[in-house]
Amino acid sequence: MKNLLESGQTEAFRNALLAWYEAHRRDMPWRRTRDPYSVWISEIMLEQTRVDQARPYYERFMNRFPTVGDLGEAPLEDVLKVWEGMGYYARARNLHRAARQVVALHGGQIPEDPAQISALPGIGPYTAAAILSIAFGKDCPVVDGNVIRVLSRLFHLTDDPAAAATKKVTAGLAERLLLKGRAGDFNQAMMELGATVCAPRQPECGACPVSSLCLARQVLPDPSVLPRKQPRKQRPHHHVAAGIVRKGDEMLIVRRPLEGLLGGLWEFPGGISEEEAAREEFLVSEMSRVLGIDIRVDRAFAVVRHAFTHFEITLHGYHCTYLGGKAVPDTFNDCRWVSFDALEEFAFSRAHRRLIEALAAEVSL
Ligand code: SF4
Repeated sequence: MKNLLESGQTEAFRNALLAWYEAHRRDMPWRRTRDPYSVWISEIMLEQTRVDQARPYYERFMNRFPTVGDLGEAPLEDVLKVWEGMGYYARARNLHRAARQVVALHGGQIPEDPAQISALPGIGPYTAAAILSIAFGKDCPVVDGNVIRVLSRLFHLTDDPAAAATKKVTAGLAERLLLKGRAGDFNQAMMELGATVCAPRQPECGACPVSSLCLARQVLPDPSVLPRKQPRKQRPHHHVAAGIVRKGDEMLIVRRPLEGLLGGLWEFPGGISEEEAAREEFLVSEMSRVLGIDIRVDRAFAVVRHAFTHFEITLHGYHCTYLGGKAVPDTFNDCRWVSFDALEEFAFSRAHRRLIEALAAEVSL
């Protein structure tokens, strides 16, 4: 059975896809503009965040940092605060660094040269192609997860999608299908098809504008078996203890180092402590070791589970009382004594924010 390229139906495919996109595309704030900065922010957010979740973040972000110059001038702390809750905080840190570079090296204009834009922190091949095609009209094909799924099904690609050889095939197909001169619309139409109709599970083939050109639809009882799934690896799990150390009306918070997991975010001090029986003792010795303070652990008050990409944690929150010593950040970026109300001003990870919610629930009881 011939695929759509072999049977000379490329034009028919493009026309059907674009007509469908014009009629069915979802209205999103970032689709109302071709401003490179707006496209850039939205693409970074959408890398690891669903559209419905990203939308309010995008609006808040653009209100707070309307231009690349505003973003570059802002303290990282402010950027992380606006990003708080969306996860994958390296995206926010890279955006901030990249904005400063755009101002310093490119006069505040996002470069449309592929080499220059790709050199900015956090801009990989996908994001570069998305900005170049959508904002600058360059003929660059975009290959993201949605596009890979659509192509795997259209062309009945059964090999491992993560293998280098398959990636090359997928990139080549995206290149050949691309409608030159309308690359931005074409790329967005492919991504929209994958995000809405050609969904990972239960694709709506009956509503698909290109179903007559889709090989998987013709040869498989269930096209959703493509792209070939990777066997799910069991994620490691860790128990983490965190102390809410109180000194009068204030509690101690620490800021993680700027680089690495959750870099630059604030949290309650503590660390990995797998053994339940040893957890309180661990907190006492950890506060002394990394912060130089003496504490007493009073009681456990909350348990929060949280999944990261490669591991999961159970976060155990303990009420603690400060006994003595001057807190010194040491391996942390910073540490502060703050009131409960002031916690709202700092950017916390989602797991620690849930500890704060548990604290608030206790106060209101
Ligand atoms: S026919 Fe079905 S499997 Fe094929 S592209 Fe359309 S939605 Fe996806």
